[in-house]
Amino acid sequence: FHSGLRLVIHLRMTGRLVYYSFAAGTDKHTHGVFKFSDSSELHFHDVRKFATMWLVTSADINVIKGLCSLGPEPFAAEFSPKYLKEKCAASRRPVKNLLLSQETVAGIGNIYADEILFEAGIDPSRAGNSLSDKEIFSLWQSIKKVLSEGIAARGTSVRDYVDGAGSKGSYQHKLKVYGCEGKKCHLCGSLILRKKIAGRSSYYCSSCQG
Ligand SMILES: [Zn+2]
Repeated sequence: FHSGLRLVIHLRMTGRLVYYSFAAGTDKHTHGVFKFSDSSELHFHDVRKFATMWLVTSADINVIKGLCSLGPEPFAAEFSPKYLKEKCAASRRPVKNLLLSQETVAGIGNIYADEILFEAGIDPSRAGNSLSDKEIFSLWQSIKKVLSEGIAARGTSVRDYVDGAGSKGSYQHKLKVYGCEGKKCHLCGSLILRKKIAGRSSYYCSSCQG
């Protein structure tokens, strides 16, 4: 803002910003409305109240927990194969956790992590430091590919996700492993399995992912 204040919004799982070109009504899940001079509005909406919004001065921005430890965006130049290799090599944690950790790369959730690992042919429980250079490069490529496809399909509407215009995404129809336990892998015909890694369900094909 002109005043030097900054607005920081962390949408977490179900928070969203919906833009209306007119003065729209609110419901019980609307927690904030930004009104613009052309009478359009941006609504801050969250059915589960996990999202948070801060209004801070530039000097105070570092006090927001979690924000300064956010890793690079997956499409930033900083997110290079070399960077990913350093992060993997430094960790014995399962590669699935590394993808979900917002410190490695920002913005990958549980669904996309499973799809990325399937695309890369890597078992989600493999330790980060056990990955070969070739696997890391494949992982890096898969992160970009799967996220690009997800964005092109306007997101994945598994529960109540809608995009900034309030529309449901369609990526849920393209999921190859997530939520597919017991179904046949479309590459090899083996059954998709599910296991818990760090408390989160992970879906994978034990034949395609080594
Ligand atoms: Zn398979």
